[in-house]
This record gives sequence, structure tokens and C-alpha cells, in this order.
Amino acid sequence: MDPYRTQANLLKLMAHPTRLQILEALLHDSECVCHLSALLHKPQPYVSQQLAVLRNGGMIVDEKDGTNVFYRLVDGRMAAVTAAIVTGDEGEMRTTAPQHMRLRDCPCPKCRAGDGCGD
Ligand SMILES: [Zn+2]
Repeated sequence: MDPYRTQANLLKLMAHPTRLQILEALLHDSECVCHLSALLHKPQPYVSQQLAVLRNGGMIVDEKDGTNVFYRLVDGRMAAVTAAIVTGDEGEMRTTAPQHMRLRDCPCPKCRAGDGCGD
């Protein structure tokens, strides 16, 4: 296939506010759909649909961990492309830590992990 067509399709995939938010979240860590749903304040079926578009487009992959499915960027190139776009606002990198962003009201295993039982 024409490589420019492939590249154009990639940009088309990214040209969507919700999908950009998902890609930005996956820059930090792999996440499951319930976390992304809580993070984006969007219904889970809608987020699943956007994840499917990104996965079918070859930008992200899913990995099963027990009963959970975590999504991550397929490679460093996708991370670089995403970072170049989502950090462009102020012309500098955002100061968010390169790790999982824990949400208080999220039911996902990563937000629940390490809560401590005595809390
Ligand atoms: Zn979570």
C-alpha cells in the first residue's frame, strides 16, 4: 500500500478529541476501559468503541491480565507521535508524571491497588 495513504489514515484516526485523550492517557501507562471511562467522563461503551477504532488502526494493542483487558500504545513511534501532538499547547512538555494517574472514583484494578486495608 502507498505509505502516504497509511500515514494519512493514521492522522485521520488521531483527528478526534476523545481518541487523542485516550492516546494521551496511554502515554503514561496501560489502562483498562473502566479507567479511561472514568478519566474522560464518557460512557464505557463509547470509550470501548473508540478503543476498537484505535486498535483496528494499529495504534494500540490490548493485553489480557486475568479478567481485565489493558490497552497500551503499540510502540515508541506511536508514543512519540502522540506526545508531539498532546504536549504542543504551551510548547513544552506537560508536567504530569510518567505513571498511572490514579482516580479516586475509578473502579479499575490499578486505582484500587495499594490502597491499603487500614485506610
Ligand atoms: Zn482507574
